[in-house]
Amino acid sequence: MNEETCIFCKIVKGEIPCYKIYEDDKFLAFLDIHPVNIGHSLVIPKDHYINIYDTTSELMSGAIKIAKELATGLRDKLGAEGVNIHMNNEKPAGQLVPHTHIHVIPRYNNDGFTHWHGARGYNPGEAEEVVEKIHL
Ligand code: 5GP
Ligand code: ZN
Repeated sequence: MNEETCIFCKIVKGEIPCYKIYEDDKFLAFLDIHPVNIGHSLVIPKDHYINIYDTTSELMSGAIKIAKELATGLRDKLGAEGVNIHMNNEKPAGQLVPHTHIHVIPRYNNDGFTHWHGARGYNPGEAEEVVEKIHL
C-alpha cells in the first residue's frame, strides 16, 4: 500500500470521510470506525509513514502530545475511567493499516475488554542476557 492507495492518506485528503477530533498542519485525530468503546480515536501524522520504525521521533512526540490531550478529554468529557494508548507496528503486532497511527481508547470498569498481562516469567540468566542486548 502506498500514498495513493492508503486509506488514512485518503482520509487526510478528504477522499474518505471521518469524524475529526483534531487537526493541524501535521496531524489529524479522528474516530476509529470500529471502536473498542465510544470515543476510541486514532492520531496520525498527515504524511505517509508506515509505523514507528520510519516515523521521525519529532512526529512521534507530536502524536503522543495529541494523544495525551485526547486522553484527558475522554476522561473529563466522556467520564472514561481509564485509557489505553496503543500502537500496533507490523503484522505480528496486529497492524492492519500501514499508516502510522496511535489508538486512544477510553476504558471503563468491567467494559469486558482484556489485554495481555505477561503469561511467562524469566528463566535464570534470561533477563541479564536480554538487557545486555537491548540496553540503550
Ligand atoms: P491497526 O490494527 O492497524 O492498529 O488498526 C487500524 C484501525 O483503523 C482499526 O481499529 C480500524 O477500525 C480502523 N480503520 C480502518 N479503516 C478505517 C476507516 O476507513 N476509517 C476509520 N475512521 N477507521 C478505520
Ligand atoms: Zn498513508
